[in-house]
Amino acid sequence: MLLRSINAPLTAIHGIGPKAMKESVSKFARLGIRNVAGLLCHYPRDWEDRRFTVPIAEFHRAKVCTEVTVLAHDWIGFGHKRTPKIFIEDESGRAVLVGFNRPWLAKQMDVGGHYHVWGGFEYKYGEIQSGNFEFEDSSKAENYGKMIPIYPLCAGLNQTVLRRFTANAIEQYAARLENELPDEIIARDKLLPKAAAIRAYHFPSSPEERDLAKKTLIYEELFYLEIMVGKRALERKGTGNSPTKLAREQGLGNRELANKVGAGTGTGEQGTGIVSPLQQRLIERLPFSFTKGQQQAIAEINADMGDCAHSVAHNGTYSNFSMARLLQGDVGSGKTLVSFMAALRAADNGGQTALLAPTELLARQHAENAARLLEPLGMRIAFLTGNIKAAGRKDLLKHLEAGEIDIAVGTHALFSKDVTYKNLQLVIIDEQHRFGVTQRALIMAKNSTATPHLLMMSATPIPRTLAMTVFGDMDVSVIRDMPPGRKPVITHLALESNEQKVYEFVRDKLKAGSQAYFVYPLIESDDEKEIILKDAVSMADRLATEVFPGFAVALIHSKLDEEEKRQTMERFRKGEIRVLVATSVVEVGVDVPNANCIVIEHAERFGLSALHQLRGRVGRGQDQAYCFLVYSDKYTDDGKARLNVMYENTDGFVIAEEDLKLRGPGQIAGTEQSGYLNLGIANPIRDIEALTKARADAFSILENDPGLVLDGHRIIARVMEEAPPFTGVGV
Ligand code: ADP
Ligand code: MG
Repeated sequence: MLLRSINAPLTAIHGIGPKAMKESVSKFARLGIRNVAGLLCHYPRDWEDRRFTVPIAEFHRAKVCTEVTVLAHDWIGFGHKRTPKIFIEDESGRAVLVGFNRPWLAKQMDVGGHYHVWGGFEYKYGEIQSGNFEFEDSSKAENYGKMIPIYPLCAGLNQTVLRRFTANAIEQYAARLENELPDEIIARDKLLPKAAAIRAYHFPSSPEERDLAKKTLIYEELFYLEIMVGKRALERKGTGNSPTKLAREQGLGNRELANKVGAGTGTGEQGTGIVSPLQQRLIERLPFSFTKGQQQAIAEINADMGDCAHSVAHNGTYSNFSMARLLQGDVGSGKTLVSFMAALRAADNGGQTALLAPTELLARQHAENAARLLEPLGMRIAFLTGNIKAAGRKDLLKHLEAGEIDIAVGTHALFSKDVTYKNLQLVIIDEQHRFGVTQRALIMAKNSTATPHLLMMSATPIPRTLAMTVFGDMDVSVIRDMPPGRKPVITHLALESNEQKVYEFVRDKLKAGSQAYFVYPLIESDDEKEIILKDAVSMADRLATEVFPGFAVALIHSKLDEEEKRQTMERFRKGEIRVLVATSVVEVGVDVPNANCIVIEHAERFGLSALHQLRGRVGRGQDQAYCFLVYSDKYTDDGKARLNVMYENTDGFVIAEEDLKLRGPGQIAGTEQSGYLNLGIANPIRDIEALTKARADAFSILENDPGLVLDGHRIIARVMEEAPPFTGVGV
């Protein structure tokens, strides 16, 4: 029996009284535990080592774990809220148990009775006391002389109940558990069989046994994570021992056709590989040449997209060798242009492109750039957001469905139910970390006959370890260089009390013709709040009237209506507005090269990736740019650490790694909300070594590596069919 296939209800567990059973089952449901499998996978968060006696006299050294006799009862306070005091004694000395919120304690610990007691004691009011302890009647003590699991709980459930349910379930079911790892791996790495691992992880006989159980369970989890990733990679690429071999053969046919119908004319004079005709024309129109990193990325994209002509009738298998590529490049490295090249490639192949941006502001900017650069090439561009009025929207949808639009730029409205594409071939997702997994799944379903090519762009570098698990079935292109002539932004930290100096500096820059951003954590302060923060609305007023009276100052934030935002951005872009006061709406993507000062006030309140993104708004032109991080003296240690990271680093990859160190792996941008990593016990960052090994094992089994004599296929096939381990990995 496979662990996750034991769907017997909790009521099937023997040895629990009907009353306890009735009371507990609904509470277990609140922890997400609905059956025996769920219970056995509800792992302890810690263990108490009660294997050895620690007498009262040694309370300084460790938690006390001893057998006592009750000497007397007493009470603190009066009436019905009074608190019991229980005087106890073991061979080494005397102490007092204080029953805060346990008024019934005196009834449970009789004077003269013998009990096992476990808890932390301290010296207080002339006594050795504990207010936080557990006890059991010595004659039937279950939880002493061994290691005791401590489980994550919810209201109404206590450790005792969970331990009893789990112990009984293990008694009843564990012996029948089958291994889910191939036996060869268990033997090779000296891991525990599944039954032993489950038993030992809940109720280990020693810390060493617990560690081995943990190692086993972690490895199993990572192994199946990589089996899933590997399977998808193989299916998508149509290589190796995948179930879509037939489709692959058809795909190869398609490629030959593709070469004939369009791709592959023109020459890649810039190292971008063989470019398509439209791509060639854009290259000729650009006033600059691509950076090395951009060229490389374009070449990789071209290789992927040339591989497959979606316009050719498809045999209906879902796997069709589409591109799935993550384009990473620091803020300002020129990813947009690379994605435009991909869109042109799709158009040359006869297909449509959808370019998805996380905010309307950014979508509009992309649409404007696309119009400026691509319309002259004959591309038909549409802009679609939730705010487009009914009539215009209807027309737009008609054109999309008829294939009269080549590139649709917009927010998630691009993928509303009523939007139909004639032939969607490429989906570009900008700032991918802002979107969740389900949204992506919806998007990819928009072409009913074939999976479109997918190009995801991110300036938030995903640490290598995570990229390997979450995006393990994607290819990655990295732009490591910046367009020439960029100077690193000079960053200053300034205490709030020195704001005048910062304002003076910016005033000089404004006089010299440049523009500036001022960013605040709040739109408007809530007067009720005790901490008084500068906010965007009142600072816009103050900056306009007191600080920069001679210059045009405007305000932008998410609550303004779209038309107002659009006009403000346009006037800022044209230079009519010199100071833009904003919230983090300007965080992603906004590109106004003449703005070369950014002042972020209450900078200690922003996260690292936001700060990095915000700083990336400047330094996009030829002039030296400046970033002022203004902080109040009430900052926290965390806030201070973040500011220092920003002061010392400009490289987004380094900042992301620092972010990871400061925040811990659960918090990596885009992973926490979107439920990527539904792992129980493994942690791909901490367990990187195991992950690497599990990946190698999983891939060589999937690829039938003749060098590896493993017969894991049978068990893998069963696990994947009967109890597929994870959901929501990657796209
Ligand atoms: P990202 O999205 O990667 O942060 P953008 O695509 O917004 O960066 O590009 C930043 C700016 O650099 C834009 O103004 C763009 O026109 C410009 N740019 C892009 N590629 C080049 C290049 N090869 N040479 C000079 N400028 C470039
Ligand atoms: Mg961008």
